[in-house]
This record gives sequence, C-alpha cells and structure tokens, in this order.
Amino acid sequence: NTSQPRLPSHLKTSIPSGKNYTRIKQDLRGLGLHTVCEEARCPNIGTCWGGGGDGVEDAKRLATATIMLMGDTCTRGCRFCSVKTSRTPPPLDPHEPEHTAEAIARWGLGYIVLTSVDRDDLPDSGAAHFASTISKIKQKNSSVLVEALTGDFNGVAKDIELVARSGLDVYAHNLETVERLTPGVRDYRAKYRQSLEVLERAKGTGVRVTKTSLMLGVGEEEAEVMQTLRDARNAGVDVVTFGQYMRPTKRHMKVTRYVLPSEFDSWKERADAMGFLYVASGPLVRSSYKAGEMFVENILR
Ligand code: SF4
Ligand code: SF4
Repeated sequence: NTSQPRLPSHLKTSIPSGKNYTRIKQDLRGLGLHTVCEEARCPNIGTCWGGGGDGVEDAKRLATATIMLMGDTCTRGCRFCSVKTSRTPPPLDPHEPEHTAEAIARWGLGYIVLTSVDRDDLPDSGAAHFASTISKIKQKNSSVLVEALTGDFNGVAKDIELVARSGLDVYAHNLETVERLTPGVRDYRAKYRQSLEVLERAKGTGVRVTKTSLMLGVGEEEAEVMQTLRDARNAGVDVVTFGQYMRPTKRHMKVTRYVLPSEFDSWKERADAMGFLYVASGPLVRSSYKAGEMFVENILR
C-alpha cells in the first residue's frame, strides 16, 4: 500500500521574490558556495534570505543561509532523507574550511548555518574539519553568527567538544523524532539517547545556545512528543523547532498525516511553556528556518 494523505493547501508554496532575496542570490554567484537552501529548493528561501528587515543592510544582517560541508555523499541512510549514500565517500577537500570562510566573509550574511553529511568513514567523523571551518569564519568576521547543525559524531566526547569549542554561537543536533520511532526513521547508528547526550555534552562545554528539531507526521503520538520535549529540556536544550515531514520520493518512508497549522501553534505554546528560549513551529519550518532573525530577537535583544 503506497497510499498516503493528499497534500493540503497550506503546504503549497510560491516562488520566492523580494529585493533582499534577489540581492543575496546575486551576491552568491561566483563565491563558490553551495547552499542547502538552493540545492534542496527549500520553500523558505524567500523568508530566510529576505531577512525580515526593510533596508537591504539590515536585511542582510538578519538573513540566514545553510551551507553543506564535507561533500554531498553521506555514510548513513536515514529513511526520510534524500542525500545520496555511500560507505566510501570521496575524501574531504582540505581547502574547504578556508574557502568557505572567505566566501562567507565576502557574502556578508548575518547568520550562517553549517551542516554536513555524516562521515562515519573518517576517524573523527569530520569533527576537526567542521571545527576548523567555524574558527576560520570567526577569524575573518567575528560578527557573523554561526550555527553548527551536526551529526552525532558517534557520541565521541572529544569530537563533540572540539566542535562545541570552535567559537560557534549555536550548537544544533536533531532528534528528528520520538524515541520509539527513532530506529525506523533514522539510520541504525543514530540513537535517541546518544543524540540527547550529544546535546547535553555540547551545552556542558558552555555553548550559548543548543537546539534540536522534530519532524511531525511520521507516526508519533502526542504523549511521546511531550516526553521528547521533556527529555530535550533535561539535556539543557534551549531551542526547538517543529516541522512537517515531507516525503522526498516514493522510496522514502510515508507521511502518516499532515499536521494542521493549529496543531503546530499548539506545539509552540506547549514548548514555550516548558521554558525553551524560542520555538519555531509550522508546516514548512525546517531547523534553520529564520534562525538569524530568531536569534537576534530572542538572544541578542
Ligand atoms: Fe535555507 Fe534553512 Fe531557511 Fe531553508 S529553512 S531557506 S535551508 S536557511
Ligand atoms: Fe541524511 Fe543526515 Fe541521515 Fe545522512 S545522517 S542520511 S545527511 S539525515
């Protein structure tokens, strides 16, 4: 049975526009940066790149973009993810940290999310490469805010701590779903408890903000989501986001339901009441959704 619920209208999106978006897109040409925003054709690109302000410089300061490091081939195979998979991806580009930092400094956006494929083939899962990219970005421009959205580094303390101490502003690692569903949704090497430990360890090194994201619509029960929020708070997680799972292709796991916007609002209310610093929740929300604007409004205020 391949049937799944029909796509509701609140998930249909329009083509991005706006002068801030256009300007940031033009600036990107020639910088050699690959954004997840463009390559994944993220529906939020107009909102994230638009930055929320009116004046162009203000908007750039508030704009968010996501950059993928360490190649386009992952050693894991999560059932919701369309990134290609191999046990032996090509080696890292040793110039990537320097080149990425230069390009980001020239681009001049206020908030950069760095993410990566998982590299279980490398002895440190790529932690040193990730950390070096962050510290080089900060050396070139200390005012750019950097969020690292990492894998679990197989739970290895020194790798998590290396990244957490690299100078970043936000350490993000996604739980993705509730504990019961984790084995069927994420790669077999990804463990719910291990992911909580990653977040707790990062917070323990003194990072300012830790963050996690959940997809809804993969079979979770309400009580399980509540438990996940409590687990995240107990691990010191500061920020949570909720979004709708969207099936990338028919070979990926099914969407069990399309969550109504009103339920997303209710998750935001409940998470706010539990003491998260800020919460983004909506059908199209992704973990990096408007991250720059949210950080400036809630943390730097
Ligand atoms: Fe880019 Fe993330 Fe915003 Fe999508 S949600 S446009 S990937 S920053
Ligand atoms: Fe996709 Fe990340 Fe899972 Fe790799 S580890 S398959 S990039 S979600």
